[in-house]
Amino acid sequence: MGSQRRKTVRVLKKLSERYPHAGTRLKFSSPFELLVAVILSAQSTDEQVNRVTRELFQHYRTPEDFARFEPQELEPLIRGCGLYRSKARNLVQTARILVNDYQGQVPPEMETLLRLPGVGRKTANVVLSVGFGQPGLGVDTHVFRVSNRLGWHECRRPGDAEKVLKSLIPPVWWAQAHHLLIAHGREVCRALRPRCEECVVAGDCRFVQERQ
Ligand code: SF4
Repeated sequence: MGSQRRKTVRVLKKLSERYPHAGTRLKFSSPFELLVAVILSAQSTDEQVNRVTRELFQHYRTPEDFARFEPQELEPLIRGCGLYRSKARNLVQTARILVNDYQGQVPPEMETLLRLPGVGRKTANVVLSVGFGQPGLGVDTHVFRVSNRLGWHECRRPGDAEKVLKSLIPPVWWAQAHHLLIAHGREVCRALRPRCEECVVAGDCRFVQERQ
């Protein structure tokens, strides 16, 4: 393992001691429910999504259930998540594709997931890693910012950062790296005013070194 990779794993180990319970906060009981929850989570919080899905999944929990909706019928049920019009349209179209082309199952393959409306690389990575236990590294705003400050990439787009991070982080760490960097981004390495003085990985952080 190269020295940069070793350093990256060292940082991840420190973060896993700091955030031993890091993991998804989304509530779901099947890959399809997870897919719905992740699509709903765009520009929303996990708490808002869980509030909406707690009610929604009591009545509608399969691709067949969602495929029967017209988007306008689904809109009021997911309004609490924001962007509800486009999310309703994407969820109904995705459900219909799953029913028509995939026997009502969520396909556990990146390329196939990416063909579903409303599913980008972050969503596909989360579904693969959290829903199917496959290596996946979703790059959301926290993962992108924290890994950039640590000096792990210089990318301008999450898609480019994903490639760099996947080459830097051993696959066995991908899923956990996603959760750890999100936990750190929410608690300590915040977008505005990161709390570097209480950061357990400050000694390995480019942002701090460049300020000195
Ligand atoms: S030292 Fe500061 S900028 Fe670096 S990871 Fe920690 S909180 Fe973020």
